[in-house]
Amino acid sequence: NSTIAEFDPELQAAIQAERRRQEDHIELIASENYASPRVLEAQGSVLTNKYAEGYPGKRYYGGCEHVDVAEQLAIDRARQLFGATYANVQPHSGSQANAAAYLALVEAGDTILGMSLDHGGHLTHGAKVNFSGKLFKAVQYGLDPATGEIDYAQVERLAREHRPRLIIAGFSAYSRVVDWERFRRISDEVGAYFLVDMAHVAGLVAAGIYPNPVPHADVVTTTTHKTLRGPRGGLILARPHEAIHKKLNSLVFPGTQGGPLMHVIAAKAVALLEALQPDFTVYQKQVLANARAMAGTLMRRGFKIVSGGTDNHLFLIDLVDKNITGKDADAALGRAHITVNKNAVPNDPRSPFVTSGLRIGTPAATTRGFKEAEVNDLAGWIADVLDAGLSDAAVETVRGKVQALCARFPVYG
Ligand code: PLP
Repeated sequence: NSTIAEFDPELQAAIQAERRRQEDHIELIASENYASPRVLEAQGSVLTNKYAEGYPGKRYYGGCEHVDVAEQLAIDRARQLFGATYANVQPHSGSQANAAAYLALVEAGDTILGMSLDHGGHLTHGAKVNFSGKLFKAVQYGLDPATGEIDYAQVERLAREHRPRLIIAGFSAYSRVVDWERFRRISDEVGAYFLVDMAHVAGLVAAGIYPNPVPHADVVTTTTHKTLRGPRGGLILARPHEAIHKKLNSLVFPGTQGGPLMHVIAAKAVALLEALQPDFTVYQKQVLANARAMAGTLMRRGFKIVSGGTDNHLFLIDLVDKNITGKDADAALGRAHITVNKNAVPNDPRSPFVTSGLRIGTPAATTRGFKEAEVNDLAGWIADVLDAGLSDAAVETVRGKVQALCARFPVYG
């Protein structure tokens, strides 16, 4: 029983290189974070060996008494953290959580209304290339280009016109607070179920610094690996409504999944306990403060931020009038060891592969200890690279500064 290093040096080299990359690059991808060593430990545990189809106390396999404890801990902590009556911790991912939740509420061929991908929604909110756009008649809302905020009047108009059976709120790239109550009212008016996908802001919600959608939505889905800082995975929450709970359970298993990943569920239990600690709130407040500081510095340097700022962990830089594409800016910053992602902005004249924007998020950089001083420097360096037209000289200068900063703030040590 040799180690990976001894048995499979090729793979070990890739793991080591990725570990180094995570240490010596600054991670600004809004959907990423660094899970704690405890979360990694749970994911590397023997729980990976166990088949446990079913739910705690009602399994299709023997020998589940210990994984039952792990799953029940995760369920109870998720319910406590978000004030939910129901939690299902089995979805393998956010997309899987959405697939199960949609199918619990509506049927193939039904009309659903969600935010379009190019305005900040997720693939699973009705994009043509995704199951959600293929299985359902997907109608899509977006942003008001004048304000960069959700066009609620359009949501209302589309809801009245198309009478969807399900309305989805939530986003992958939107920097403002979503008015959950307004979505609830629109859903009630047209007799639709209301689902919130809070994948991006779940950590902020857990810390009480972003409005909790659980009291408003019929069902809330999330990932566990973004601001929530757990293992990669999905989670479904709901208010008291027995009939929906039963459907959700049966649509996760056996509806859309087989055996749950018990090691990942154990890691979710660890992450949820971490999120219940007081220092998690301190962390999330810093995530928000850092995002606001970075957006402010970039605006002072003459960059346009979609909607003029941020109320969460992310924001979008609009490069439409800068003569720089999102794709090129993403690549140049990558060479400077600053990892971001290109992103479409409202009314983007360029294709989704090129784009005219960048999405910047602070969850990972905040986990490694950056506060306002560090992120203000960082925003200045991003501006330096963009202002220099992505020149090699600017990239090289900034890379040196980034490496010095990374060395001062080790992630895993
Ligand atoms: N929902 C939203 C809003 C997301 O941003 C994402 C991921 O980026 C997902 C769902 C999908 O999660 P996963 O990648 O785990 O399938």
